[in-house]
Amino acid sequence: MGLQDISSYVAGHWVRPDSGAREIENAITGQAFARAGNATLNAGTMLEHARTVGGPNLRRLSFHDRARMLKALALHLGAHKQALYDLSFATGATQADHLIDIDGGIGTMLVFASKGRREMPDGHVYVDGDVEQISRKGSFLGQHICTPLQGVAVHINAFNFPVWGMLEKLAPALLAGMPAIVKPATATCYVTELAVRIMLDSGLLPEGALQLVSGSLGDMLDHLDCQDVVSFTGSTNTALQLRSNPNILQNSIRFTAEQDSLNGSILGPDVQPGSPEFDLFLKEVQREMTTKAGQKCTAIRRILAPQSSIDAVINALKARLSEITVGDPTQKETDMGALVSAAQKRDVLAKIALIASEAERVFGEPDTHPMAQSKGAFLPPMLFHCADPDNAAHIHQTEAFGPVSTIMGYRDIDHAIALLNRGKGSLVASVITHDPDVARQVALSAGAFHGRLYFNNRDSMGESTGHGSPLPHMVHGGPGRAGGGEELGGIRAVLHYMQRTAIQGSPDILSAITGTWVPGTAEVQAPAHPFTRGFYALMIGETIITASRTVTTEDIEHFAAFTGDTFYAHMDSEAAKRNPFFPDRVAHGYLLLSFAAGLFVDPDEGPVLANTGLDNLRFMKPVVAGDSIKVRLTVKAKTRRNDDYGEVRWHVTLTNQDDDRVAEYELLTMNSY
Ligand code: NDP
Repeated sequence: MGLQDISSYVAGHWVRPDSGAREIENAITGQAFARAGNATLNAGTMLEHARTVGGPNLRRLSFHDRARMLKALALHLGAHKQALYDLSFATGATQADHLIDIDGGIGTMLVFASKGRREMPDGHVYVDGDVEQISRKGSFLGQHICTPLQGVAVHINAFNFPVWGMLEKLAPALLAGMPAIVKPATATCYVTELAVRIMLDSGLLPEGALQLVSGSLGDMLDHLDCQDVVSFTGSTNTALQLRSNPNILQNSIRFTAEQDSLNGSILGPDVQPGSPEFDLFLKEVQREMTTKAGQKCTAIRRILAPQSSIDAVINALKARLSEITVGDPTQKETDMGALVSAAQKRDVLAKIALIASEAERVFGEPDTHPMAQSKGAFLPPMLFHCADPDNAAHIHQTEAFGPVSTIMGYRDIDHAIALLNRGKGSLVASVITHDPDVARQVALSAGAFHGRLYFNNRDSMGESTGHGSPLPHMVHGGPGRAGGGEELGGIRAVLHYMQRTAIQGSPDILSAITGTWVPGTAEVQAPAHPFTRGFYALMIGETIITASRTVTTEDIEHFAAFTGDTFYAHMDSEAAKRNPFFPDRVAHGYLLLSFAAGLFVDPDEGPVLANTGLDNLRFMKPVVAGDSIKVRLTVKAKTRRNDDYGEVRWHVTLTNQDDDRVAEYELLTMNSY
């Protein structure tokens, strides 16, 4: 049978491999079954298409439009995931591994879809932080905004997660409004190609938003400019080579890298054999060693256990690892499949030779395990014990990207932290402890070396997500050896594809740019009570000022009796005066809020459907009996929520008879259209 052609998607057309193609092997059989790559890839055409077609198409959509598109794309992929599962076995992955790659990728896209609609505006400008008061009278203000970069996101991905690796970068880029050119690792690009076909066939993506390079990237990096981004996952050597490309350096092109990481896991000094934490630790370590045959950037490479428990941990781990069935990943009884290729297997064997110069192998024989004679890239899980980790180097520096881990003993928690940080920067470190002081010490002394710290114990293990699972909500990336990059982490990930710009100007200028009212913006007179006006009719800055109402002693006493809030400052003049905040008995803050509502609401059934909350409430000046209050109500921002209603954020200021502000807050209502 001939080799299957794995194509690239260039400027709206599928391009089949040519004389520049490389063969791709099936991880289970070792046989070549596909080919990908082109001798001449027209990088200029791809970049031009992304910049002039994809970017403008995406930027025309609002954040919410793009979030809805992500949701639809994720659901469409979900409906076609069986085809992706079927194909993925050839990478050596088991069905459990597919769930991480394929379902995990789809889930990540769904989280960005949801966060985009909940945490980003229904517009084109993302506001970062509060208005800055940079002038005395408030006529000149500052604000930070983010707008999408106008270039292309080039995503160079590793072989181990052909679907998740693409989607975890693609979802934030598309949400930001940036088109992407995806270049998967050739070894598993056939799975990525299918996922891209499924997404393109859905018709959900605007033209130019997504292109694919199967095979070599050619000289594309030489043609990038300051509006482009490169996000790389793979080995340190490739990262170094690519990030030192003169064009990337000269044009300050954003370059993010996820690379080798010697992730560690500490068994807390408080944990005794037989405790729930002890078993939990073994489970986490075994899972990290064997999932994806250890080809996971977050896998536990270094196991740190108290010296006093080291034998117990080694024996228990050996017992667990001996239960692992290595073999054909398509078979149900298989726990661990093959590595991706014979080359990757050779690389792991070369790396463990280095580790073995400092540590004794206590489990796993690559030459004699049951799959040793297979032509597939099979290896057993392998555990090493390093008796002198202080004087070792390779075990802290060498990432054997397979089912390999090294255990070492530590004397006390300071020693454990020192060993952990010898990895010189990792994606994740975990600590299994039930002692909050241990957790605090690790966070303070090791946090700076790790992108993520994962604490787990009997209280959280029922719902914990696993040491090795990057979550879309949490930052993924790490300093130093891990590449110095940052991905995921909720909306933080989206901002990596946007430019943060400091805007300075008058309140009206800032309001026009951000689509949000800021203090000092010219008041817009409402043509009718704003509660009578539908969502779309309401204008940003539309304001009403209410009549005033005098607060009496009877009001305060009535409210106290009615609610049961008889706090002394409301009831006892002498006691209130002894308090540094109050001149006399004062009105309850909640009484003022209630009076405010009584002053500004329009009582009739209308477009305002519900009051859904208050934000940023501040009581600024006490109100005593005899004071009178009035309310200024302004439309601050509007966000469509669904087909029936949207959220209106109102700025509310209560002032007294001297025009002093006594309270301020933001009121949230849901309004029909
Ligand atoms: P590589 O660094 O070889 O490749 C990573 C990506 O870069 C692939 O898409 C590859 O494409 C591409 N690439 C390689 N050379 C170039 C180039 N000159 N220009 C443009 N793109 C290029 O890593 P692998 O995926 O092969 O994995 C090798 C090792 O990387 C693993 O053994 C492991 O140690 C480490 N790794 C670390 C990860 C982490 O996050 N910690 C994740 C995955 C891997 P192509 O396949 O076509 O060569």
